[in-house]
Amino acid sequence: MPPPGQVRLPDWDTLKLRVRSMIGSHRVMIFSKSYCPFCRKVKDLFHSLAIEYSVLELDKTDEGPSIQEVLAELTGQRTVPNVFVNGTHVGGCDQTFQAYHSGLLQKLLGGSKGEEMEAYDYDLIVIGGGSGGLSCSKEAATLGKKVMVLDYVVPTPLGTTWGLGGTCVNVGCIPKKLMHQAALLGQALQDARKFGWEYDEQVKHNWQTMVEAIQNYIGSLNWGYRVALREKTVTYLNAYAEFIGPHKIKAVNRKGQETFFTAQSFVIATGERPRYLGIPGDKEYCITSDDLFSLPYCPGKTLVVGASYVALECAGFLAGLGLDVTVMVRSILLRGFDQEMAERAGAYMEKHGVKFIRQFVPIEVVKLEDGMPGRLKVIAKATGGTEMIEGEYNTVLIAIGRDACTKNIGLDKIGVTVNEKNGKIPANDEEQTNVPYVYAVGDILEGKPELTPVAIQAGKLLARRLFGGSNVKCDYINVPTTVFTPLEYGCCGFSEERALEQFGQDNIEVYHTLFWPLEWTIPNRDNNTCYAKVICNKRDNVCIVV
Ligand code: FAD
Ligand code: NAP
Repeated sequence: MPPPGQVRLPDWDTLKLRVRSMIGSHRVMIFSKSYCPFCRKVKDLFHSLAIEYSVLELDKTDEGPSIQEVLAELTGQRTVPNVFVNGTHVGGCDQTFQAYHSGLLQKLLGGSKGEEMEAYDYDLIVIGGGSGGLSCSKEAATLGKKVMVLDYVVPTPLGTTWGLGGTCVNVGCIPKKLMHQAALLGQALQDARKFGWEYDEQVKHNWQTMVEAIQNYIGSLNWGYRVALREKTVTYLNAYAEFIGPHKIKAVNRKGQETFFTAQSFVIATGERPRYLGIPGDKEYCITSDDLFSLPYCPGKTLVVGASYVALECAGFLAGLGLDVTVMVRSILLRGFDQEMAERAGAYMEKHGVKFIRQFVPIEVVKLEDGMPGRLKVIAKATGGTEMIEGEYNTVLIAIGRDACTKNIGLDKIGVTVNEKNGKIPANDEEQTNVPYVYAVGDILEGKPELTPVAIQAGKLLARRLFGGSNVKCDYINVPTTVFTPLEYGCCGFSEERALEQFGQDNIEVYHTLFWPLEWTIPNRDNNTCYAKVICNKRDNVCIVV
């Protein structure tokens, strides 16, 4: 019955008949309100499925409130969206998505009109077999889903390529940490004499031996990942994936052969690749971290360009291995980190032989001599003036940041929004992009930490939410991280600069201390180096601000 006092525009029964007829005569009928975000979400879902739908915006018609009452009578649901598929009441936004994920929606869509919904090849296709992609695909398969993962490494300009596992395993955390360890062992050798070890031989480092050992280990990890995928019955394809239409990708393998696959849901986990300077000689003569860890020869005298994580870590271990290393810094060290800590890490590096050229950027790299390594001339310009400098190096390592691999994967063909400025994919707090069946995890996600444990956790939790009935989301706040320069700087929460900004000078209290690690005492290593700092909010019971 209409609510008491409600104006009956047409006759109540006539209206009911009309609503019924709308429901019955449209494959998908959505009763909506134009400003409602949940209604938009549902419309986006059908749009992304390339399924035509009819909408009645209840806020745009005088009959709106009465129709809402009719719907309440017919379905027990007063809220919008109110969705019907082939005459069946599906429900609101949550119910529609649940129906979509369980496959019910597809069945209903295929139903009465004999229009069979396409049967997808896979429940889930994951693009990118790195930290995020592997964890997500394995978890989805564990939950009984039919899953495919595609991984393909586009060779670097120098032709370097690698196996399954993504950045962390092949050209990131793993080789970085192992080379860091090689550098620490050099220091340990020096310390060892003080602890009573006597050895006569002259100590020197063999780059090839180290690289071969590390690459062998990485090879075993690549193999292990393939076996793990097979055991979980995830289909693995070493091919480059690109969307060519809704729910459909093209996969191109090394030989250029094309195959096509469809899936109900997709996860994009394509990661990032090093950025180049865009100056003469950079791609021809310089290397990036993607080349360094498998470089078949010792890089020799090295210029590292950049001053963040990757740059300082690589500079740190190369110097620790005894090489002549210079870092060219455009502005500050470790942007985004506590600057006092960043400068302390820099001071330690300087003390251990790393040279810094500050406020300069390279403008040209010229080859002077071929070889392994060869000889390069770098011409650089002051950032705040016209001063120019030149230097000769055997190797130039560019580490000026990484670009998200989102450009050539057909996202435009399916309407996934990408931030034009940085190539990152915006997503909601459930890693869902603006196209409801497409999700994104790992380094390509906008505004999230670019770290392996984060990508792994996000991928696993996403699979559990999609296929395991879970509603646990990934917590991206206060993720700790460490920079290995090789002095290890771990941090979590606010830098002092950000705490000042957020809470004001008067409201923060900073506690700090220098300390001398026990193992540094016997070799008499510098007791003014190791430092800890805790930033507290006075207003919040002097609580640590993380
Ligand atoms: P990735 O691991 O990069 O995987 C993406 C995969 O997708 C790649 O294999 C790529 O080739 C593939 N791919 C791309 N496009 C396609 C396509 N169209 N079709 C098929 N496959 C495709 N993090 C830490 O937590 N700790 C560290 O110590 C640390 N050290 C690092 C050191 C270095 C030098 C670097 C570069 C990174 C480091 N990181 C570290 C960051 C960490 O490696 C990344 O955060 C992590 O690998 C991101 O995982 P992902 O799944 O997003 O992408
Ligand atoms: P990044 O954090 O984006 O830093 C880029 C650096 O390059 C900055 O110092 C920047 O200087 C400089 N730069 C940019 N453009 C330049 C140019 N044209 N000329 C000269 N210098 C330029 O990049 P990243 O070091 O590659 O790290 C990427 C991500 O990988 C990090 O965010 C991190 O999460 C992850 N990572 C983690 C670890 C770890 O956990 N230990 C290790 C490595 C990497 P300005 O400050 O002047 O902009």
